[in-house]
Amino acid sequence: MVVAIPERTHEHLNAYETAISQYNRAVRYLDYDEGLVDYMRYPRREFTVNFPVRRDTGEIEMFTGYRVHHNTALGPSKGGLRYSTAVTLDEVRALAMWMTWKSALVNIPYGGAKGGVVVDPRTLSTGELERLTRRYASELLPLVNPMSDIPAPDMGTNSQVMAWFMDTYSMTVGYSVPAVVTGKPMSVGGSEGRTEATGRGVIITMEASLHTHGEDDPSRIDIAVQGFGNVGSNAALYAHELGYRVVAVSDIDGGIYNPGGLDIPAVIAFAAERGSVLDFPRAENITNEELLATPCDVLIPAAMEGQLHRDNADDVKARYVVEGANGPTTPDGDDILNDRGIHVVPDILANAGGVIVSYFEWVQDMQAFFWDKDEVLNRLQRIMAKAYKQVQANAELHQIDMRTAAQVTAIKRVGEAIQTRGFYP
Ligand code: GLU
Repeated sequence: MVVAIPERTHEHLNAYETAISQYNRAVRYLDYDEGLVDYMRYPRREFTVNFPVRRDTGEIEMFTGYRVHHNTALGPSKGGLRYSTAVTLDEVRALAMWMTWKSALVNIPYGGAKGGVVVDPRTLSTGELERLTRRYASELLPLVNPMSDIPAPDMGTNSQVMAWFMDTYSMTVGYSVPAVVTGKPMSVGGSEGRTEATGRGVIITMEASLHTHGEDDPSRIDIAVQGFGNVGSNAALYAHELGYRVVAVSDIDGGIYNPGGLDIPAVIAFAAERGSVLDFPRAENITNEELLATPCDVLIPAAMEGQLHRDNADDVKARYVVEGANGPTTPDGDDILNDRGIHVVPDILANAGGVIVSYFEWVQDMQAFFWDKDEVLNRLQRIMAKAYKQVQANAELHQIDMRTAAQVTAIKRVGEAIQTRGFYP
């Protein structure tokens, strides 16, 4: 017997319940046997580690980490490492499943994985962060290598964390292996364009959706961005550069609003110095809940899961929701947004730019041959535009919303690979 998959039990679903509910909704459009449907529902491997880290005081503290491989039919598993106190096994399972669909949707040869450590990285010194990362990396050695499982940055981690991960792996095997992680600094085999890739991809898909609905003039579009980490800040910056008006942004402490538009490069500089966007001059402080209800044309939730739900989806004023985060909308939230005719560009499409350029980084590392930035960004643009068109075509074919259409497109590719390979033994 395998352990039970959660049912929808209460209105504020956890991320895994959301992922399963979305899958159940989408898989109905594919004529698959119940066995195959069930197979794709389950994570393939779940790995839990408990490990010690020496604090700067000399004391030893225990930490719990996870790595989950959801499905590997299309290739090595790929997905980020998250450092957050909200990390749970269920969250990592959901994020791993979404990585399977994301990679399949944009047609890159990867399965899905995710990892996480239960920790608030802001409470660690640089030395503690390095020791935690190196020990977690060594605990993951049975799973991770460039041919089987390739981590990357996610919430709470960055290119420096990836460099320590790569160094720990390389020291263990005795030679340098840049391809073991992506999202590394350029000095150790990173790719041009990787840092801004996810945020840029969010804006590429936002424009695809706007253009589909005949909205071609950036100066008439107001944008609100929830989350000012790597994804949110780069999405805001790229939108600003293209001439859109970014009227509100927020981080974990709250947000800022100026209906005349925010000077995003100045907000980025301010947040880098102060640690938060709050109190930015010439803007009004708002809460994160107020940000989601900001008067604007496009809302970009780029923080975390479960932000738009049954109790607040009715308050959204935007006409478009472009999901920079993974799983920001619960199924109840989805129903409300769809009923209200709000155009949703779903996470596995909107935020796929990160894993696409991660794939380019891995390819470059494996070949030890590096591309210039134009080549990276042009290829990113082409892949995202193609994926958007395929999702739109499936939405029209089945008369379904963009999220379900994206999942159908992805699940079909994974299902076909599983059936073609056959069931072992
Ligand atoms: N953490 C990112 C995501 O959720 C990137 C994953 C990767 O590049 O492997 O898509």
